[in-house]
Amino acid sequence: MKQIPYWLDTAPPLPDRSGRPLPDQADVVVIGGGLTGLSTALHTARKGARVVLVEKDKVGSGASGRNGSMCTQGITITTGQARERYGQERARELYDSFRHAVDLVEELTLKEGIDCDFRRSGRLGVAFKPAHFERMRAKQRDLAENFGHETTLIGPGELRTELGSDYYHGALLDPLSAGLHIGKFVHGLAEAAERAGAEIHERNAATALRRTSAGGFEVETLNGLIRARQVVAATDAYSDGALSWLRKRLICVGSFIIVTEPLGEELAREIIPNARLVVDSKNIGHYIRLTPDNRLAFGGRARFAPSDPASDRKSGAVLKREMAEIFPQLANVRIDYVWGGSVGFSYDRIPHAGENDGLYYSGGYCGHGVQMATYMGRALAEMMDGRPEANPWRGLGFPKVPVPFYNGTAWFLPFAGAYYKVKDRFY
Ligand SMILES: Cc1cc2nc3c(=O)[nH]c(=O)nc-3n(C[C@H](O)[C@H](O)[C@H](O)COP(=O)(O)OP(=O)(O)OC[C@H]3O[C@@H](n4cnc5c(N)ncnc54)[C@H](O)[C@@H]3O)c2cc1C
Repeated sequence: MKQIPYWLDTAPPLPDRSGRPLPDQADVVVIGGGLTGLSTALHTARKGARVVLVEKDKVGSGASGRNGSMCTQGITITTGQARERYGQERARELYDSFRHAVDLVEELTLKEGIDCDFRRSGRLGVAFKPAHFERMRAKQRDLAENFGHETTLIGPGELRTELGSDYYHGALLDPLSAGLHIGKFVHGLAEAAERAGAEIHERNAATALRRTSAGGFEVETLNGLIRARQVVAATDAYSDGALSWLRKRLICVGSFIIVTEPLGEELAREIIPNARLVVDSKNIGHYIRLTPDNRLAFGGRARFAPSDPASDRKSGAVLKREMAEIFPQLANVRIDYVWGGSVGFSYDRIPHAGENDGLYYSGGYCGHGVQMATYMGRALAEMMDGRPEANPWRGLGFPKVPVPFYNGTAWFLPFAGAYYKVKDRFY
């Protein structure tokens, strides 16, 4: 069993972008080589700016290369919560930004020629309990009436046409969500950014950041100092001490994925006949999809633990057991891959982006960063070019995690995990 992301293992080999001489000046320095950083670099370079991106490890080594590869519609909180907090009009704007974000990912694959298996295969939200299906009924109405989004309800009796399992109690199908091969997309985005003129420096962490009297920044990196007019923190759940302001605002939650051996066409079609992206309605739920070569990728938070090699193996064992409960046909299949990563959650469970003391940032995508991080890269380029209205999350603040002395180490997560397990059991 390999302990690396299937998506990175099956993408074309990456060029080595480490050890390049760092210029001493740029218009914009982007810190972090995930989807936020790469998309910012691409869209800022397209405007003619000199952009230098520094990445601590390799491009895509953070969450962007190790996720569920689902580019889905729908906001990170319920539409009801969004309406209650922000009013119907703003809630609609935020909801629509996810739709535009999926469109942008598609547009980039087409315009930049990124061959990454992007396909609008649809998202099947499956109900873990009958009560959850009733909520889906109300959600379907709300989406159609207030958010211009048509979805299809699938009753428990018809669910076998979509899923080879009797575990769930109905589903809501959104036709617009897309699956893609995230490893290929991340690589393609890096190449597109370079074609636009951005420089990428791998294995070169930013270690400190200082404002200059002229209003710009000095960024200290492992390979030297670089000055820039503008700096973007694109480090999300992988933010370290150099970006402690961001760390104090994010809760990093471990999420894990196993990938089976290839199942063959017949078994794959039995499990997910229409190759949908499947997400269940539990609090500690699962995200499930077929890979382009007909393996099953089965993800979840498993143990509410941080990711490291030993923890990933333990979480993999939990996921394997849960997969066999849902799909007994897969009880004896081999698991070829297991890995984990950190998902950046904000305290109020919406993404946040803006400028703090001259530093631009975007993160806290709460498990919806494939599309939103890519979208926010373009928004950041516009914001830095004097168009703050390009930021759908403008004016929403960015609350600190309200835990005394919190510095980004979420010691309380096992307690939260226990609470959600109880909730899943009884509600
Ligand atoms: C297991 C898992 C499953 C997920 N599934 C999905 C999904 O199916 N759909 C979805 O929409 N979202 C999903 N997500 C979330 C999504 O992957 C993230 O929201 C998104 O990738 C965040 O992108 P980013 O560029 O902001 O951050 P990242 O991709 O995490 O990139 C941050 C980068 O910053 C670098 N860095 C950190 N500090 C420094 C420094 N000091 N100097 C230089 N570089 C630095 C890191 O090395 C890292 O490469 C999942 C996440 C995980 C972990």
